[in-house]
Amino acid sequence: RKLLDVVSLTKKYPSKTNLIGRPVEFHTAVNQVSFHVNEGEVLSLVGESGSGKSTIGKCLLKVTDMTEGFIYFDGQDISNLKPEEARTMRRNMQMIFQDPYSSLNPKHTVREILSLPLKVHRLARTGAEREKRIKEVLDLVGIPAAYMERYPHEFSGGQKQRIGIARALMSKPKLIIADEAVSALDVSIQAQVINLLVQLKKELGLTLLFISHDLAVVNYISDRVAVLYRGDLVEVGSVHEVYSQP
Ligand code: ADP
Ligand code: ADP
Repeated sequence: RKLLDVVSLTKKYPSKTNLIGRPVEFHTAVNQVSFHVNEGEVLSLVGESGSGKSTIGKCLLKVTDMTEGFIYFDGQDISNLKPEEARTMRRNMQMIFQDPYSSLNPKHTVREILSLPLKVHRLARTGAEREKRIKEVLDLVGIPAAYMERYPHEFSGGQKQRIGIARALMSKPKLIIADEAVSALDVSIQAQVINLLVQLKKELGLTLLFISHDLAVVNYISDRVAVLYRGDLVEVGSVHEVYSQP
């Protein structure tokens, strides 16, 4: 079953404005891109810097408007959602960022960071329910529950990314978009975080859209790969098909 179906997605950014600030020229960052992600699979979106990977992620999450096209997610047409509908949708579609240093609020403890998604999505209502879910998720990502009152700066880079993953898991999403989620980490730590994602995929039946420019990692983790080149989707297939072109 297709969990995500992207049809002719186009995103143009203004590249030149006139004297009164009205855009007069546009740059096409994503050009008529179509692909789908099956339930339970890892699809990697690869391509050099500037090829449109992050822009696709932002269009899916509805943090930026797309210019043309259709997006279907979990049986729903999410091409045009009101902000309130987009918030509800994001309960089931969460993102892991490249830089957990900047995405984790330094003034919040782990408990506060992980409580927020529960409050936003009105999930666990009592303190005891929240406590239970936070412990559950910390256990999934391998962070001791005893660290709950600590602040982000008290953790290593790999641990911070685990907390970022925990935050994404709080609302029990169906799809996780990982945007260069291990690229900023030391190589030895990368392997641990990748293995965690693979394990979570198996245990929770997660579906992953894995955005990366690192072919070794992509090769290891992906069921299928979609290749972008300057905004165009130039190839989609299994890792074997895409990497063994004649
Ligand atoms: P990638 O994630 O593959 O590095 P991006 O999606 O970040 O690629 O960028 C694709 C293209 O869109 C690039 O040419 C980039 O400069 C441009 N772009 C990205 N974000 C913006 C923005 N907010 N405003 C204008 N142009 C942008
Ligand atoms: P870029 O791809 O331009 O480097 P980022 O990957 O840092 O941007 O962030 C992607 C988008 O997600 C941005 O619009 C940013 O404002 C937003 N964002 C960053 N961190 C968070 C967060 N923790 N929660 C929600 N949105 C975030």
